[in-house]
Amino acid sequence: MISINKHYADLKDSYLFYNIGQKVKAYQEENPDAHLYRMGIGDVSLPLCDAVIEALHGAVEEQAAKESFHGYMPECGAPFLREAIAGYYGERGIVLSLEEVFVSSGASDELGDILDLFDRESTALVIEPAYPAYVDANVMVGRNIIHLASGRENGFLPDPDEGIAADILYICSPNNPTGAVFDRKKLQAWVDYANRKGAVILFDAAYEAFIEDPALPHSIFELEGARTCAIEICSLSKTAGFTGTRLGYTVVPTELERDGMNLHDMWVRNRTTKTNGVSYIIQKGGAAIFTSEGQRQIRENIQVYKNNAKVLMEALDSLGIWYCGGKNAPYIWMKCPGEMTSWEFFDYLLREIQVVGTPGEGFGACGEGYFRLSTFGDPQDTIEAAKRLTALLAGK
Ligand code: PLP
Repeated sequence: MISINKHYADLKDSYLFYNIGQKVKAYQEENPDAHLYRMGIGDVSLPLCDAVIEALHGAVEEQAAKESFHGYMPECGAPFLREAIAGYYGERGIVLSLEEVFVSSGASDELGDILDLFDRESTALVIEPAYPAYVDANVMVGRNIIHLASGRENGFLPDPDEGIAADILYICSPNNPTGAVFDRKKLQAWVDYANRKGAVILFDAAYEAFIEDPALPHSIFELEGARTCAIEICSLSKTAGFTGTRLGYTVVPTELERDGMNLHDMWVRNRTTKTNGVSYIIQKGGAAIFTSEGQRQIRENIQVYKNNAKVLMEALDSLGIWYCGGKNAPYIWMKCPGEMTSWEFFDYLLREIQVVGTPGEGFGACGEGYFRLSTFGDPQDTIEAAKRLTALLAGK
């Protein structure tokens, strides 16, 4: 009899977005004319920038002629894109060799696949509230998970705990859902801890492009000692609107070794076995992001989201509501008024002002009492949502 991976039965239903969808659907059925202000979405609302579109078109044309056609791409990424990404790191003083940059189809794929490098008996530590995929990818293989709660007392940026023994450490900075960003000192403490304990940090830098404070690190490789303890997983989804186009990259330093094995070499072996590379067309589109014109254009789009953040932050400031994020991240993590639970607050906003956000409880138990507002929405809707929030919550 075939034996199936029963750990799938241990997965909690991904009820967060399902529940939101159900509640929104029910509301719309009862109120068919109501316009909803969607501040819950994690998807972008602006299209790809012109430089990317032009490069995509050019690559499509190349595929039409025998002389310029490309078949299989190198599994770990086309040299032109690996070079462009290494150059991007170089601008921040981080020296990467081409072979340390792996082109991917996005961060989600990598966050799941990278776990192939670790034994099932190892332990994963997830700082919560967290992007739900970290926990679920480990539950699927039956790995032991330590849920490290964070809270307002530490700005949702906890320090490592010497008493905890974990092998795989998830750090997401800027964080989804809290928008909190580790400063150098706090991140250095995690790097030192990982090196001391022989652990490996999986650093999720999906939102690095939203950092505006020059003192904050965009990459874990800005920190001393990170090359011997960290893997960085990055995405072009939010940076450049590639959520549907799919492109990202992962950095695995050649020095990263554990248990007598070299993780970089293992990852090369993994990719060359399990993938056949990302499409030439998409990689050409991606390379355009790293040109000076591409950078200028994507920054313009990011600025639109940052203006949304400003509008929402001003509303919360005027109401005296505690929040973090927003400035260096596309998410705002606000305290629900009074003793309201995050789902009560969700229902209240939907019913009273037709604003849809994301209840904090869906990102881990310690997210209860908090609420995530996304800044990826439509600017006019965001302005109206902020007005409605202000009118509703004044005096609450
Ligand atoms: N990591 C975090 C923290 C995210 O919030 C997301 C998407 O929302 C991802 C990774 C996945 O990104 P991608 O679209 O590249 O798969």
